[in-house]
Amino acid sequence: MTLKDHILARIAAEGPMRLDDYMSTCLLHPTLGYYTSQTPFGQQGDFVTAPEISQMFGELIGLALAQAWLDQGAPKQFTLAELGPGRGTLMADLLRAANQVPGFVDAAQIALIEASPALQQVQRQALANHDVRWLDTLADLPEQPVFLIANEFYDALPIRQFQRAGLNWRERNIGANGDNLTMGLGPAQSCPALSFRLDDTKDGDLVETCTTAGAVTGHIANRISVHGGTALIVDYGDWRSLGDTLQAVQDHKAVDPLAHPGLADLTAHVDFEALAVAATDCAYSRVTAQGMFLERLGITQRAKQLATSLSGSALENHIAAHRRLTHPAEMGNLFKVMALFPMGGTPPPGLDP
Ligand code: SAH
Repeated sequence: MTLKDHILARIAAEGPMRLDDYMSTCLLHPTLGYYTSQTPFGQQGDFVTAPEISQMFGELIGLALAQAWLDQGAPKQFTLAELGPGRGTLMADLLRAANQVPGFVDAAQIALIEASPALQQVQRQALANHDVRWLDTLADLPEQPVFLIANEFYDALPIRQFQRAGLNWRERNIGANGDNLTMGLGPAQSCPALSFRLDDTKDGDLVETCTTAGAVTGHIANRISVHGGTALIVDYGDWRSLGDTLQAVQDHKAVDPLAHPGLADLTAHVDFEALAVAATDCAYSRVTAQGMFLERLGITQRAKQLATSLSGSALENHIAAHRRLTHPAEMGNLFKVMALFPMGGTPPPGLDP
């Protein structure tokens, strides 16, 4: 049975499916989900993420977190956490760079949150030289300071979409027409949680919500407020979402999100305002473009340093990687960075309060 057959059978039995249910089924179905049944990243995979483009990304994140750790008095023991670590590349690069900061790696207890057993295996290999453990949920984060990175994690969390109808909202859902999945609309209902969006939307506009993103951020913010620490959230999106941002990518190309369930990556833009609202217990930085953030952290100096030992196509690839991570026409503007840090504290390097 394919995942599409499974979804069609569910719709036949239970009626239209909510979009968040569809998205999490596509990504994380125990045997047929996109993340659970394959390892989709890298040049050969469906898409390439920043840490897979260049080692510089993880290195600079590592040094930023190590500086935040120093700024907060270098606690002797803390959790170094990553959400959705993919192939484990970012954490490996982070640890190698942060090893230059005396005491940081020794004080770190590495904790990863990863829903895919297949990717956990890849991470185990990438981090074979380190003592690593996997947590089932963020509620299991130890009661101690936490320094955390989440790169392209939040965009994989399941969203719901609501279309404005007068002062009410109609939720988009997934139905079936023969063997095809189709996008439909539920009945109009009032949604008190969306009443603040009546100010900046008009009839027919679409807004997105992500309950899991709020819950995840709330847990992190709570740990930071009680024990200290810093979280860096990097993803595509902006301060407030408006319009349909659901997208599917297969083999480096955009495809119809309903056409290949379980075989294409499904993501949505991150609404950073919603994360800030959920982080009530701690402070958050200004949302900053990735290109600006990496430049402030010294990516160009690091790129020049690495370039001295490269030549030919390796050098060309390296220059292209620097451009891809930072240039406004590539990932530089689309991707944003926001930090969570203790109330009354300072944001990590590269970000403004
Ligand atoms: N951070 C990595 C991978 C990004 S892809 C990188 O930058 O390369 C998204 C990652 O989040 C994958 O590892 C995926 O398996 C994981 N993931 C997606 N949804 C998740 C969930 N609900 N809980 C835990 N991990 C999840």
